[in-house]
Amino acid sequence: MMPASLDLNALFAPRSVAVVGASPKPSVGRYIIDTLRSFGFPGAIYPVNPGYEAVDEFPCYPDLSSLPTAPDVVAFCVSPERTLAGFRQLPGAGARAAVIFGGGFGEAGDWGRDAQAEIVGLSREAGIALCGPNCMGVISPHARSATYLQVGSKREELAGNVGLISQSGSICISMLSDVSRFGFSLVASTGNEAVVSAADVLDYMVGHKETEVIATFTETIAAPERYVAALERARAAGKPVVVLKVGKTQRTREAITTHTGGIAGDERVFSAVLRAHGAVEVDEFDELIEFLAACQGRPWPKGRRMSVVTSSGGAAELMLDVAEKAGLELPALPTADFEEARRVIGDFAGDGNPLDAWGNGNFRENMPHALKVAGRVGNTESVILCYDNDDDAPMGRIEDYLARVDILETARDTSEKPYYQLTLRPGLRISAQIPRLRALGIPPLFGVRQGLGAIDRLARWGEPVAEARPNATPVELKGIAISGRMSVNEYDSKRLMARLGLRVTKEHLATDLASAKAAAEEIGYPVVLKAVSDTILHKSDQGLVIVGLSSPDRLAEGWRLLEARLGALGTEGAGADIMVQEMVVDGIEVFAGVAYHEGFGHALAFGLGGVELELHRDFALRMLPLRQGDAEAMIGEIRGAARFEAFRGRPAYDTESLAACLYALSDLIASAGEAIREIDLNPIKVLPKGQGCAIVDALILPKESEGGNA
Ligand code: ADP
Ligand code: MG
Repeated sequence: MMPASLDLNALFAPRSVAVVGASPKPSVGRYIIDTLRSFGFPGAIYPVNPGYEAVDEFPCYPDLSSLPTAPDVVAFCVSPERTLAGFRQLPGAGARAAVIFGGGFGEAGDWGRDAQAEIVGLSREAGIALCGPNCMGVISPHARSATYLQVGSKREELAGNVGLISQSGSICISMLSDVSRFGFSLVASTGNEAVVSAADVLDYMVGHKETEVIATFTETIAAPERYVAALERARAAGKPVVVLKVGKTQRTREAITTHTGGIAGDERVFSAVLRAHGAVEVDEFDELIEFLAACQGRPWPKGRRMSVVTSSGGAAELMLDVAEKAGLELPALPTADFEEARRVIGDFAGDGNPLDAWGNGNFRENMPHALKVAGRVGNTESVILCYDNDDDAPMGRIEDYLARVDILETARDTSEKPYYQLTLRPGLRISAQIPRLRALGIPPLFGVRQGLGAIDRLARWGEPVAEARPNATPVELKGIAISGRMSVNEYDSKRLMARLGLRVTKEHLATDLASAKAAAEEIGYPVVLKAVSDTILHKSDQGLVIVGLSSPDRLAEGWRLLEARLGALGTEGAGADIMVQEMVVDGIEVFAGVAYHEGFGHALAFGLGGVELELHRDFALRMLPLRQGDAEAMIGEIRGAARFEAFRGRPAYDTESLAACLYALSDLIASAGEAIREIDLNPIKVLPKGQGCAIVDALILPKESEGGNA
């Protein structure tokens, strides 16, 4: 484990920097010294290179052991071999942090892996906060420090409130290429994360004064527990964390293994983890950028409903379509406000949101009026002015576009809501507007989908967290062992489900045909026969489920068939019991599954059974424990949710009891999750409203199974 005392201050706000491989000639070491100088770095700069007496005005040292004071951070700009040799001197030199830019370590061959292992060992022993290898390094504009691969000169322009963590260096390059709308408080390109992980940096940024929003570009999560804990701390500190994760398709996943030497986790689980811990997930790079831009506005939106003002009916329709698809909320103007808008603007099409402010064409009056009305209406929490123009546009007068900033400012000053300016598509801008809008806290956003989406994400982030559910009463495990078995068979698993207050099929183990008949008599025909065994996980695959036995004769036939099939299985079959089970004819087949994910905890999946699951992968996912409302939301969000509703005289289905079933699984994990790796209720049959649901098949896999840790 990493020592808890790892101090990232030495990395991000060093008092002294040693640059191994510095030289007067153009080189990475040269650039680092140039950047430090132009940033006005207040501490000591120590070039290290046996080949030179000095680099500019700085005396050059032959090696790390001859520095006049201990360096806070050491930047390695040399080959992997010389890096390793230099690293061995770090503990003796008293260094507290290091950056290794170059690759050729954990992501490369055997030598690289061994070298990285040695470097990690040295770092942990001496408490050295190592960034990299295989990274761009770090920048701290506010602390006037940078140990970063690219040369930098415009520190003031760079400085801002966004903390950036990226495993990929090229993403850093891309993000730092435009600081017109937001700047950076800290930048960390973490590379292989051999010692300092994204979780460590995230945690540091939560406590970093100038960082107000955190952006992470993530390929793999190296330290899931600490990552999740840092997300929680960020949420408590009121700092949004926006996450763009790659590795969603198999192709990029393979790219990751060779790129940073890690393995991507399951994408859906990661999304559920982010959601559970209040992070903002984006799917695309442009969404990430617009989110950060939207965060520059003041105040942040207090709700998701938006008022949009446009200057054309066509733009209004386009936006409505985008909003509809993205599930954004653009409520119609209330009648009184609609009339008030029309009084000045004249007639316009639609319901007033988006509000087409063209009207009678007197734009100088109409636009301020529209923005004022939008700022006042009671059913929205933000106002967006949307139009396109560009520095190089052949039409229109630049003065008119600059005047819109004043119009926006005036409107904003009479409203409690945040205001935004939006272009219909990305790639257009009136450059002179941008710094003025930024200073006013009125973010210029680019593109309807990305821009409105960003405002919506920020508003969602600000919503209160759903309540935790009351503590579950621990389930009584007595008589049903979980640990140490290969699996807990259907019969035992269902006894456990019954103890949670859930309805399971009526069923009895039978030792011979006579007792099977007696059981069927008691249960009522039709019945089902199944094999019961800890070692047979998928019964029907081996023909060990026989459904629809409607009479004693059919039962006898089924019994003989099942016995024959078990016989053919040899010892495995001989060890199995046979169960007579109630046949649940009606209802919709759904499934609920729990799986444990190392570092993240248990996740619960729910969806329709059969084709929906196999072909469409239509399921909802949440981390456990569920919060109030989660189960109902899961049932409502699957694509096939309409199946549960009343339709042409057919009654609605009992989703209430289904929700209770999902909550019960959450409660079971809360009390016995230590022992459980997976639960599979498949199928559960959901019956018409008022009749509940019945668990037809159940299987539990222990964390510690017979053959050791599974
Ligand atoms: P497996 O171990 O193969 O998952 P199941 O017990 O789930 O075995 O049975 C396979 C299928 O047979 C179920 O998905 C369901 O469609 C049907 N089935 C099993 N038991 C019953 C039952 N008691 N009532 C109705 N259908 C059942
Ligand atoms: Mg099953």
